[in-house]
Amino acid sequence: PVSLVAEVNEFVQRATASINRIQDLLNLTDELRSGAQPYVLGTAPQIEFRDVHFSYSTEQSILKGVTFSVRAGATVGIVGPTGAGKSTLSHLLSRLYDVDQGAVLFDGVDLRDYRLDELRRSITIVPQDVYLFDGTILDNLLFACPSATFDEIREAASLAQAHQFIAGLPEGYHTQVGERGVKLSGGQKQRLALARALLKNAGLLILDEATSAVDTRTEGDIQEALRQVAKGRTAVVIAHRLSTVVDANWILVMDQGRIVEQGSHTDLLALRGLYADLYRQQSGEGVPSVTAFEQVV
Ligand code: ADP
Repeated sequence: PVSLVAEVNEFVQRATASINRIQDLLNLTDELRSGAQPYVLGTAPQIEFRDVHFSYSTEQSILKGVTFSVRAGATVGIVGPTGAGKSTLSHLLSRLYDVDQGAVLFDGVDLRDYRLDELRRSITIVPQDVYLFDGTILDNLLFACPSATFDEIREAASLAQAHQFIAGLPEGYHTQVGERGVKLSGGQKQRLALARALLKNAGLLILDEATSAVDTRTEGDIQEALRQVAKGRTAVVIAHRLSTVVDANWILVMDQGRIVEQGSHTDLLALRGLYADLYRQQSGEGVPSVTAFEQVV
């Protein structure tokens, strides 16, 4: 009984810590006021950053006057060294934080004016490390759209280049995943998350490419998945390998909280600036590598 009491005590303490963290998160969301403007699910937004300044705390300014726009339905790549502010752009796009100065607009409307719940529902973020909860693959996909039929699930998984590996698992769509289930690779989890974006009918897709080395086949599968899922959507891809963004309609090159170059792959090569140097160096090496990229920048 004594050890049971000790165990319960430890459990309660851990639960309290978790509750406090959840409360912090809820308070954070409360700070962001929802606007009244409806946001239609599935809208592929035209994005505009207008002289955006942002910092997480007062000490360090992270974005220092970022201006760019992306047309509706385009795919934009963001490249640059670690700490340049790429993920911060994605935080502002999904309105996890508000800008300090300037504005982020979708279709000419300030994000702060949209209904927050509707805006968030229309955005899918595929992080580097996708979280799958304990349950089957089917459960994890249904989570994005509980009313989806099995045919719709399978179609989304096929477009996201996930159906084949799912079908190869011992119990297919009924295979248990998450902490207590089959361990999937980072690339496989990202493709499941891309399938979720299709099921959710998100109009904006934000993909943070995995930094860890992936083999050429996995890289190819993810790129094909992205091509399929990005159709009819606006897509923002934080890329750690330049090869990922070669086909993007628009590429932003970031460094130290600023956009130092922007354009299509061809425009940027013609500029003969930083991007062109990086590209020459990476293609010279055969396989683009994050390390080579970051050394040059
Ligand atoms: P990148 O994605 O280009 O690597 P980030 O946007 O993640 O860059 O980070 C830009 C800067 O912001 C870094 O100095 C980082 O330490 C800081 N930063 C990122 N996220 C947070 C956060 N949640 N709180 C405080 N500082 C942060």
